Amino acid sequence: MRLKSIKLAGFKSFVDPTTVSFSSNMSAIIGPNGCGKSNTIDAVRWVMGESSAKNLRGENMTDVIFNGSNARKPVGQATIELVFDNSDGTLTGEYARFSEISIKRKVTREAQNSYYLNGVKCRRRDITDIFLGTGLGPRSYAIIEQGMISKLIESKPEELRVFIEEAAGISKYKERRRDTENR
Ligand code: ATP
Ligand code: MG
Repeated sequence: MRLKSIKLAGFKSFVDPTTVSFSSNMSAIIGPNGCGKSNTIDAVRWVMGESSAKNLRGENMTDVIFNGSNARKPVGQATIELVFDNSDGTLTGEYARFSEISIKRKVTREAQNSYYLNGVKCRRRDITDIFLGTGLGPRSYAIIEQGMISKLIESKPEELRVFIEEAAGISKYKERRRDTENR
């Protein structure tokens, strides 16, 4: 499964609708300071269900909405859509028939969040469920940010285990067990 494109609108510095397309299995985002590299990564984490404002470098969850600049007024909502190529059949079950999977998240100034899966409204949970065990997801190792390599090298065995369990596809079963135990 491969990320094909990110569509950003009203998200952080990306006030106008912008599409970033990725054509290969490994991509790097480069550019001058402040051009929006980290904002793009925040966008990917956010749409996959990241629920910590701190992990998105903000204080409140509505800080992701474009807040205005010298030339532009703030806007009322942010949306991000990710389109994945599923033609290799990574996603099985009910999603196997889709060669493309689109996930979308929207937030308004009133902190109303909406999620969409292939254009149909869904729960946050439906999106996080899809990616569990695929190596993707808001905190996955598929996104390698500044400082991540040294963090991995320096991590404690129990922290490292989380990455290994995700790579081995075990984490989704642990998540389901936790869920069952909490019911
Ligand atoms: P560096 O190379 O320094 O890491 P970068 O390319 O990662 O830079 P980002 O952190 O992605 O840069 O972008 C920073 C810019 O985004 C800043 O100019 C900041 O003002 C702007 N920005 C962040 N949040 C918002 C927001 N909610 N509304 C408007 N602009 C924002
Ligand atoms: Mg940065």
